[in-house]
Amino acid sequence: RSKGLGGKQAQYYSKQFHQKIESRIRIEHDLKRAIERDEFVLYYQPQVDSQSFDLVGVEALIRWQHPEMGLVPPDEFIPIAEESHFINELGRWVMDEACKQFQIWLNKPGMKDLNFTISVNLSARQLKDAGLSEFLLECLERYHIPADRIELELTESSLESSLVALDMLNKMSALGVKLALDDFGTGYSSLSHLNEYPFNILKIDKSFVRFIEHEDEASLLKAISSFAHSLGFDTVAEGVETSFQRDLCARLGVKRLQGYFFSPPIPANEIEIMWQPKPAIQ
Ligand code: C2E
Ligand code: MG
Ligand code: MG
Ligand code: MG
Repeated sequence: RSKGLGGKQAQYYSKQFHQKIESRIRIEHDLKRAIERDEFVLYYQPQVDSQSFDLVGVEALIRWQHPEMGLVPPDEFIPIAEESHFINELGRWVMDEACKQFQIWLNKPGMKDLNFTISVNLSARQLKDAGLSEFLLECLERYHIPADRIELELTESSLESSLVALDMLNKMSALGVKLALDDFGTGYSSLSHLNEYPFNILKIDKSFVRFIEHEDEASLLKAISSFAHSLGFDTVAEGVETSFQRDLCARLGVKRLQGYFFSPPIPANEIEIMWQPKPAIQ
């Protein structure tokens, strides 16, 4: 027993530790059956154009509606899914579901002419799922989705350089889908990856945006966005929570904005309500 901890406190920590382990085992166990039980759902977070504030895209974010634990956020089960091959099955479910929803939207009167994109998160591990690009192509064909309306997001910190990963990214890029580097600025990957990999878009991590209250706290955001733009990337800012941050990002030329200031991730039907076309200006 460690010296500094009194008996009671040690008991407290050990109880907490126990609960953590228990909920982890539970998640690991229940996860495998959650697809067939139809417990996953995609929420969608709007992205707006920084100049016009028009809705120009949505990011699909998975949630798990657990029968007893309630809505489980992805940070609590994606890492567990990533430790096994289950992430491949789950990732394919997400891709199919997002494309299916997109087709529904594309077929709605008033939405069909809107030039919006849908972003889907991929785990780096899924790049080793050998048939993934064929599966993606099947989804695009099945749901009649133009490839350039789909964006795939990969987090910078999870990308390791490997030929397998590079090969898969090139294959998907060749289909015409866009690739975005997520959480940009937080990874440890070497900058040379930006040239090696076929990324089109850099998503500036929310940690560089959401805490800014004054101009003089914005130097990192300014440096990162100017760096991204000078390399020719389109940018998306995550974590826009205030009008100050919105205006700042717009001024810095960040193309699209996403964050609680506009909307949290919401169910598909609520997106449709936001998407009511504006009356034409005479
Ligand atoms: P991410 O892809 O970077 O997604 C952005 C996260 O930031 C989301 O958390 C979103 O709800 C949150 N967020 C959005 N706007 C704001 C804001 O203004 N302020 C703050 N503080 N947070 C904001 P969420 O939905 O909990 O997702 C967490 C992460 O889980 C995602 O980060 C992504 O890496 C992963 N994830 C989500 N869905 C999927 C999925 O379908 N597949 C995979 N592989 N990963 C997923
Ligand atoms: Mg993302
Ligand atoms: Mg992110
Ligand atoms: Mg993240």
